Amino acid sequence: MTFLVTGGAGFIGSAVVRELIEKTPHRVVNVDNLTYAGNPESLARVDSDERYEFRLADICDAAAMARIFREYQPDVVMHLAAESHVDRSIDGPSAFIETNIVGTYTLLEAARVYWKGLQDSAPQKAANFRFHHISTDEVYGDLHGVDDLFTETTPYAPSSPYSASKASSDHLVRAWNRTFGLPTLVTNCSNNYGPFHFPEKLIPLMILSALAGQSLPVYGDGKQVRDWLFVEDHARALVQVACEGKIGETYNIGGHNEKQNLEVVETICDLLEELAPRKPPGVENYRDLITFVADRPGHDQRYAIDASKIQRELGWTPRETFESGMRKTVCWFLENEVWWLRVQNGSYQGERLGVTA
Ligand code: NAD
Repeated sequence: MTFLVTGGAGFIGSAVVRELIEKTPHRVVNVDNLTYAGNPESLARVDSDERYEFRLADICDAAAMARIFREYQPDVVMHLAAESHVDRSIDGPSAFIETNIVGTYTLLEAARVYWKGLQDSAPQKAANFRFHHISTDEVYGDLHGVDDLFTETTPYAPSSPYSASKASSDHLVRAWNRTFGLPTLVTNCSNNYGPFHFPEKLIPLMILSALAGQSLPVYGDGKQVRDWLFVEDHARALVQVACEGKIGETYNIGGHNEKQNLEVVETICDLLEELAPRKPPGVENYRDLITFVADRPGHDQRYAIDASKIQRELGWTPRETFESGMRKTVCWFLENEVWWLRVQNGSYQGERLGVTA
């Protein structure tokens, strides 16, 4: 089968592309316009495989999307392209509205026209076609109890421009299924972490700041709770939903790893004490670098996912615990300095000059 993956140069998208190329026989077309978050170096392990192709294109460009569908005739679309950083959505929401809402609409329309055409030219291929939209648990808003969980039927109540734009895109995808019959699936996942994570996000930011002897800024009191999932567990779940999920359904994906932000930062410090004992000058304990800063506006208190449906219906469970996944992540950053140094100094963006549209 041919998988059209959007946003495949991003953090989760690149894990999905690696999973597809390394663990399945499928062909992958990666459609990405390489924003600051897109890094072709995250695909170095697979980009010379003959089953992999890269297309530099913006999902908001209707003509380019129509061309790509015509040219590659995909069997499955996995839509991950998005603006994904909450802080950036507060500083400048416009790109989030454009890519997450208008871009998803544009892609849905290109998929619909292509799929309609298949119904005449290749009915069997049309019958098997699937459009999988990848979303976040942040669309559900936040939880204030200690043991309540987001399920697939929790009403949407997004708090940030990021989560509101993702919520809009989820509604569009479901409407294209209900109104036009487009065979769609939606997944909503908790916070991911792991190798190739862009260094502006909490976990890599804390690892790299600690290694540099810089302060580790924690929002508010650090008591916000997030449910963490190792990115490779997520990629495996996504491929399974794309291939085996029931059309029209939503699946929540989570790691059963609820942690307070402060606990996450302390875990990183403790792993670094063990794995990187030679500390920067002036640092006695990594934990001494933790500082508390003003809370983010609209900061959600707690997210926690009930992932029992995907477990029950598709048999998926995470392989990594928080402890094993965090150890793998810290080791990866210690062993892959070239990757993150090139992100920090901006040279990774030079790669985009070498790819053609
Ligand atoms: P990311 O920011 O790391 O990557 C996004 C990718 O999309 C980049 O490669 C970027 O170049 C590309 N992109 C952005 N705008 C584009 C456009 N207009 N056209 C084509 N490509 C474009 O994001 P991520 O963390 O890998 O998240 C991927 C998806 O998963 C997103 O939809 C996000 O909402 C969702 N998600 C993320 C998390 C998480 O913890 N990171 C959790 C749940 C769901």
